[in-house]
Amino acid sequence: MSIEPEFRQDPVCGRWAIIAPERSHRPKTLEGAEPRHRREGERKPCPFCPGQEYDTPDEVLAYRPFDSSPNGPGWQLRVVPNKFPAVRPDLVTLSSTADSTADTTTDKNMFLASPGLGRAEVLIECPEHLPDPTHLSDSQFSAVFSAYRDRLIALADEVQLAYASVFKNVGAEAGASLGHTHSQIIATPIVPGIIESELAGSAAHFSRTNRCIFCDIAHREMTDRDRLIAQSENFLVLSAFAPRFEREFWLLPKRHVSRYEAISSAECLELARLMKRVLSSLDIIMDKPAYNWSLHTAPLRSTEMPHYHWHIEVMPRISRPAGLEWGFGCYIIAVSPEQSAREFREHLS
Ligand SMILES: [Zn+2]
Ligand SMILES: [Zn+2]
Ligand SMILES: [Zn+2]
Repeated sequence: MSIEPEFRQDPVCGRWAIIAPERSHRPKTLEGAEPRHRREGERKPCPFCPGQEYDTPDEVLAYRPFDSSPNGPGWQLRVVPNKFPAVRPDLVTLSSTADSTADTTTDKNMFLASPGLGRAEVLIECPEHLPDPTHLSDSQFSAVFSAYRDRLIALADEVQLAYASVFKNVGAEAGASLGHTHSQIIATPIVPGIIESELAGSAAHFSRTNRCIFCDIAHREMTDRDRLIAQSENFLVLSAFAPRFEREFWLLPKRHVSRYEAISSAECLELARLMKRVLSSLDIIMDKPAYNWSLHTAPLRSTEMPHYHWHIEVMPRISRPAGLEWGFGCYIIAVSPEQSAREFREHLS
């Protein structure tokens, strides 16, 4: 049986899945960690620590002094292909499977599948074996946001890729398999469903009002302040109005911009400082919960869109989705977003 990854689309609602058998071989050193809270999982030696570069594929980006050698120690940040990838760059797309003129009554066309083409990368955020992103220095945290930008720009050169999903898992409950702080990038020929639906929803709002819905949200939340958690000169942190997880918050630029790639280095540092403050507050309120964050930005190579606005969604994982959430897509939240914003503000440093 083939172990090549494959995209499959649900024939009823169009939801995509990636079938990726190689993922079952990845190390899971955080397994068994206490639910709800983070723990420093250890695997000695850690494949992300300096001196272990041979244990990862060759770097595609590194911030390192000019006199240090690629794939050796001395780096501040490295991006390497995922050793256990969900998608692979060496596969050929079969665009014929999506032929709209084809007979859709046959099984072949009902069950859309194509090879799992793409790039899966790991962004190792610092050389120190730190499990917690709030322990990064401001400049290290800022480098993470710069590296997101640099990889999005580089991946846009690959015309077969349509979207790069940038995300981070912190803690075993959030899906992290190694304790050394890192982010992930999965770039694919498909645009993920959540981004498609945000693009469609924001385009519908724009056609009604000639305004960006995210700019409208930012303006309203800065005026009302009920769900405003923190702000800096150029960024805003909000408690999500209709969250999926307790204390879910969003971080977005005040100025309209659809493509994250447009962020400046100075803005990366500003974003890092703001994110660290809010994450530190979250750690106090929820006693270091596991969490995920994901960057939602316009598709690769898109021109500036008047209706879409990049943002980062942070989802603490203190409760597990259950029947209503999985079965019906409706989320039950015990702490109101307004109460959550108040508590965040109280614990901001
Ligand atoms: Zn490490
Ligand atoms: Zn906007
Ligand atoms: Zn979003």
